[in-house]
Amino acid sequence: MSDLLRFASFSRIEGVRHGFAGADAFGAFDGRREADLLRLVEAVAPSARLVRTRQTHSAQVRWVEAGGPSPSERELAAGIDGLATADRSLALTALGADCPMLFLADRARRAVAVVHCGWRGVAGGIVDAALALLEERAGCAPSALLAAVAPGARGCCYEVGSEVVEALERAAISVATIARPYLRPDGSLSRAVDLSTGIAARLVALGVDPRSIELAEACTICGGASFHSHRRSGEVAGRMAGAIALAAERR
Ligand SMILES: [Zn+2]
Repeated sequence: MSDLLRFASFSRIEGVRHGFAGADAFGAFDGRREADLLRLVEAVAPSARLVRTRQTHSAQVRWVEAGGPSPSERELAAGIDGLATADRSLALTALGADCPMLFLADRARRAVAVVHCGWRGVAGGIVDAALALLEERAGCAPSALLAAVAPGARGCCYEVGSEVVEALERAAISVATIARPYLRPDGSLSRAVDLSTGIAARLVALGVDPRSIELAEACTICGGASFHSHRRSGEVAGRMAGAIALAAERR
């Protein structure tokens, strides 16, 4: 048994394998350790090859295939924050500690993607980029997609400055619907945003059926030891990870 978080909607599609490893997966998990990432892939899709990137909060999503040069590198070049594939031999991974992670799969099992969705990436259009890539490379219309957002910093805790609010608004994320008042410990009032809800709203705006979107409830900042949180622990924070793959064979 692995203690991975799995989304009910994705688990119902035979042919798609996925899992999210929190801080306590396999006893103790840190996605910065290659052995831990390999263990996640082993639990999710045992015969698949690990593909990972050096995330930089960019808005770039890369299409990968086993025959291409990219997956044979141990790690893709920096500046890629999302991966998509139709190749059944690959397991795509992403890391996060507060930034929500978006899983995507086409109901017909043609392609899958995993995307690191921090505010900079979301404001830069990474959700749009992922959907455009799936449609362009695999013919997956947004209406045919299932989406799930893994635990991240939620509106209860994710205090942000005006630069974040303005950047999200420029990216057509309706901040009015995702922002909440936030009371600082010193009693002053600030603002927090719920990025997961913003990602879901963007998916709907792009044509994904709201009934096909699943959001993890947990907040990584106040959710306790099951989660790594950059906001809570600072630079020493570990990383959680998500993995997704198309099953090698249809049954
Ligand atoms: Zn919280």
